[in-house]
Amino acid sequence: MKLIQQQTEAHNLMGMTQQDLEAFFSAIDEKSFRATQIMKWTHQQGVTDYEQMTNLSKSLRDWLIENAEMKMPEMVSEEISTDGTRKWLLRVDDKNAVETVYIPEGDRATLCVSSQVGCILDCTFCATARQGFAGNLTSAQIIAQLWFAEHHLRKQLNKARVISNVVFMGMGEPLANFNNVIKAIEIMMDDNAYGLGKRKVTVSTSGLVPKIDKLREAMDVSLAVSLHAPNDEVRNQLVPLNRRYPIAELMDACRRFLEDKNRKHSITIEYVMLDQINDQPEHARQLAKLLKTLPSKVNLIPFNAFPNSGYERSTDYAIESFREILQAEGITTITRRPRGEDIAAACGQLAGDIQDQAKRKQHFEKLYDADLLKNKIEVVCA
Ligand code: SAH
Repeated sequence: MKLIQQQTEAHNLMGMTQQDLEAFFSAIDEKSFRATQIMKWTHQQGVTDYEQMTNLSKSLRDWLIENAEMKMPEMVSEEISTDGTRKWLLRVDDKNAVETVYIPEGDRATLCVSSQVGCILDCTFCATARQGFAGNLTSAQIIAQLWFAEHHLRKQLNKARVISNVVFMGMGEPLANFNNVIKAIEIMMDDNAYGLGKRKVTVSTSGLVPKIDKLREAMDVSLAVSLHAPNDEVRNQLVPLNRRYPIAELMDACRRFLEDKNRKHSITIEYVMLDQINDQPEHARQLAKLLKTLPSKVNLIPFNAFPNSGYERSTDYAIESFREILQAEGITTITRRPRGEDIAAACGQLAGDIQDQAKRKQHFEKLYDADLLKNKIEVVCA
């Protein structure tokens, strides 16, 4: 066997796709079926101790123990909401931790995963943005959230299978961490791992247009777009990225996404309901017009408050009126019931624990500095 010199993240088998594992084993002159064996042990059985992988040869097990990592996330805390939602804080390195949320609903259970430590995009109504940005999660750190949730809960709930859906709606902008997110999704969908169908995995983006195109070419998953405003004037204020990729460009990217590969499904439009900001009847009418030519369904998300956000949740009346206007225009519109509010696990409340002061972003007022924004977007899109 050739010896691999350095133990790096690249050798954390947790984050490797079937193809990566095959390449890994071929490099040490092992048969490619080892890849399938490792996938099944790790992701289907939840076994990460090489010693217990009894269908691997003893010499291979010994070699793996010495040379290949299988790093698990450490659970820092678990909070359980009165509605059954659970939020875990998972340590990713010695300074940082990210949040993952489990949302049971009837016979489905959705896992909301993080893709970055913090976020660079600074949407003004989002708690994650206030935390700054300390880096991308590796594919291993992303898939480990599903590994942890699935196997932790199988034991606790005494069930054979737990997670039925995954949404990339935790901390971070998934399309800004493209390659690692794609790898993690491949593992989620692999029949030797979690076998999730393509309609069961949703990537949510604030609108990184070139990356939406890249995603379209790379794989078939569900797409959610955090629109939050029906015109550029309002969206520029809420989602600074809109200054780079305005609504018309975003809508075109969504249309291309659906047309390509003849996707039959629709795009989910997320729309946070902010009192007096984007929740007026004229906003609903503008939104209906915008979505007329895009197969889509709308999720209205009542704003989830966090300290010093500067925003208020729309009234129930405003939300219901908004919904009715869209419905009357033939657009399927659902008001998302806030989940896990008592444990700050709802959309936009995830803050993790980011102590990487060195990388902490500059004060968020600077966002509106056009050059800074341009630089940031270049970093994000690189
Ligand atoms: N960056 C990605 C995914 C993370 S956020 C994106 O923007 O889509 C997941 C969803 O929660 C997004 O639609 C986001 O805009 C929304 N959200 C953020 N803060 C919120 C808050 N305080 N209340 C309600 N929804 C919020």
